[in-house]
Amino acid sequence: KQPMKMSLPEATSHLMQHPWSADVKNALLKRFHLRGFRSNQLEAINATLAGKDAFVLMPTGGGKSLCYQLPSIVSSGRTRGVTIVISPLLSLMEDQVAHLRQLKIQAYNINSECSPDERKFIFDTLKDRKVDEYLQLLYVTPEMLSKSQAMINHLHKLHNIRRLARIVIDEAHCVSQWGHDFRPDYKALGDVRRQFPGVPVMALTATATENVKVDVIHNLGMQGCEVFNQSFNRPNLTYEVLPKGNAKTVLESIVEIVSEKYRGQSGIIYCLSRQKCEDIAKKLQEEYKVMAHHYHAGMVPQEKRQVQREWQEGKYKVIVATIAFGMGIDKADVRFVIHHTIPKSLEGYYQETGRAGRDGKKSGCFMFYGYQDTTALKHMIDKGDGDYQQKQRQHQMLRNVVQFCENRSDCRRVQVLAYFNEHFSRENCKGCCDNCNSTSTFETRDFTEYANAAMAMVEQMQRGESVTVHQCIDVFRGAKRLKNSDWQYLDGYGVGEDLDRGDVERLFYRLLMEDGLKEENKMNRAGFATAYVGVGPRKRDFKSGNRKLKIQVRITPNAKRMQ
Ligand code: ADP
Ligand code: ZN
Repeated sequence: KQPMKMSLPEATSHLMQHPWSADVKNALLKRFHLRGFRSNQLEAINATLAGKDAFVLMPTGGGKSLCYQLPSIVSSGRTRGVTIVISPLLSLMEDQVAHLRQLKIQAYNINSECSPDERKFIFDTLKDRKVDEYLQLLYVTPEMLSKSQAMINHLHKLHNIRRLARIVIDEAHCVSQWGHDFRPDYKALGDVRRQFPGVPVMALTATATENVKVDVIHNLGMQGCEVFNQSFNRPNLTYEVLPKGNAKTVLESIVEIVSEKYRGQSGIIYCLSRQKCEDIAKKLQEEYKVMAHHYHAGMVPQEKRQVQREWQEGKYKVIVATIAFGMGIDKADVRFVIHHTIPKSLEGYYQETGRAGRDGKKSGCFMFYGYQDTTALKHMIDKGDGDYQQKQRQHQMLRNVVQFCENRSDCRRVQVLAYFNEHFSRENCKGCCDNCNSTSTFETRDFTEYANAAMAMVEQMQRGESVTVHQCIDVFRGAKRLKNSDWQYLDGYGVGEDLDRGDVERLFYRLLMEDGLKEENKMNRAGFATAYVGVGPRKRDFKSGNRKLKIQVRITPNAKRMQ
C-alpha cells in the first residue's frame, strides 16, 4: 500500500523501459500537459499496453481516467485501435469527451441520445482499418451494449480488423451486488467481455471492499489480471476539527496556522462564498502581511489562470478559494488545507484535504465547524439543482459531515477511511488527528428524554411567537435573564440547567439535523431573513422511542448524570 504521490517518469526508470515508453511520456507531457504520474497510473498504463487485464482501485480524484485515456492515443502497445469505455453517467461522459476534444483527442459518445447522423458516422468509422486516425476513444453506456445488437455487431467488425484496442469499465463496482450502486446492465458486461477474448480489459473503481473486487474480477472474467490496489490513507496528513466561534476568533486561529505554524509555506483556505474568500484574503494581506489571494468562479479566466500560476510558482503562498479551485492543480508542496466552512460531503473533504502533502511531507488539514454553517448549506441544497431524491442524498451526505465533526472520540482517519469502506486501526494513526491526541475522555449518553422535552418546549414556544433556536437553547438552560419573562412558566424551562452549554447546543443542532426540529427562514420586522424554529416530521419517532438521540459528552470529575 502506498500513499498517493507524484512520480516523474525519470524517477521510475524500470517502468519506462517498454517499447511504448517514449510515446507514453510524450503523450503525458504534450497532450495531457501533465508533469508526472500519480501512484499506479503508469503501472496500469503499462499493463494495458502490454495487453494484460487490469483492475484499478483508486480514490475519487485519484486520477483514474488518465489510466485509459492516455493509452488510447498510444499506438505502440500490443494492441491498437479504439478504446471502448463503458461508463454509467451520461453527463460524466459528455464532460470527459468535451475535455478530451480540447486536448485534440478524438473522443466520441454513443448513447440513446445520439442523432442518427452521429451514429452513422461512428458505425461507419468502426469498419475502417484506419479508424484510429478519426476515433480513439468511444464512450458507451452499458445499456447500449446489453440492448443494442447493432452495437455488438460493430464491435465484432472492429475486432475482426484487429482495431479493438481495449475495453474499459469505469465505475466497475456497478457490476457487483455488493457495491452501493449495482446495475443489472453492468452484470451483463461479463457476457460482452467473453465475446472478445484476447482484448485487454481495464476495470476501475473507487469502492474498496474485497467483496466488490472479487465480484468484478469474477463477473468480467478477468482471471490473472493485474490488480492495482491502493490504500486511501494519507499517512502524512494530520486532521483536526476546530470549533467555529465568531469571525474574529476564526480569523485569529487561521492566522495562527498560516503565520506561525506554517509560516511562509503554501496552503489553501476553502470558503463557501466568493465574498468570504475576498474578505479573508484581503485581511490576511493587509493586516497580517501574508501573501494571499482569493480565487473563485466569479473571476475572469485570465485572472484565474494568473493567480493559479503565481501560486504554483510561490509568489502567493495562500489561496483563499471556493471549491472551484483545485481541479487539475498539481502543486506538490501544499503544507496545509483549511476549511473555513465544512464541505458538503466527506468525499469532498477527502478530495480537498487530499490536495495537501502530495510530496509525502507532513501537512495539516484543519476544519472549522460550527452548527450555524449547516443552515446555510441546507438552504443551498434546497435551493439548488436536483430532484427530491438527489436532495435527500445531499442532505444525508451533509449529515455525515456533521456527524464526523461532532464525533470527538473516534480517530478521524478511521472515520474517513471507513467512509470509503477501508478498515484502519486506530493505533496506526499515531496521534495524527485531534481525537487521537485529545486528553479528554468522552462518553456517549442517551439524550432522548432531553430531546423529547426540548421538542415539546419548542412546540409550545412557537405557538406564541416566532422563536430562534438560540432563544430556545436559553430557555431550556433556564437562563437567569429570562426569569422575568413568560417563558419561565414553560415545562421545558431549565430542564437542561445541569448540562454544559455546548451539550445543550449540540442537542438542539442534532435535532435540527435529524428532523426532530426544523428551521424556516422568515422575514423579521427589520426586513432580514431569520431562521425560526419549529417541530419537525421526526418528532413522533423520538416520542415513540423508535429513535434515540445519543450525544458524546466530555467526562469531567464532577459531571452530573441524568437519572
Ligand atoms: P477519478 O476519475 O479517479 O475521480 P480523475 O481522473 O477525474 O479522477 O482525476 C482527478 C483530477 O486529477 C483531474 O483534475 C485530473 O486532471 C487530475 N490528474 C489526474 N492525473 C494527474 C497527474 N498525473 N498529474 C496531475 N493531475 C492529475
Ligand atoms: Zn487518529
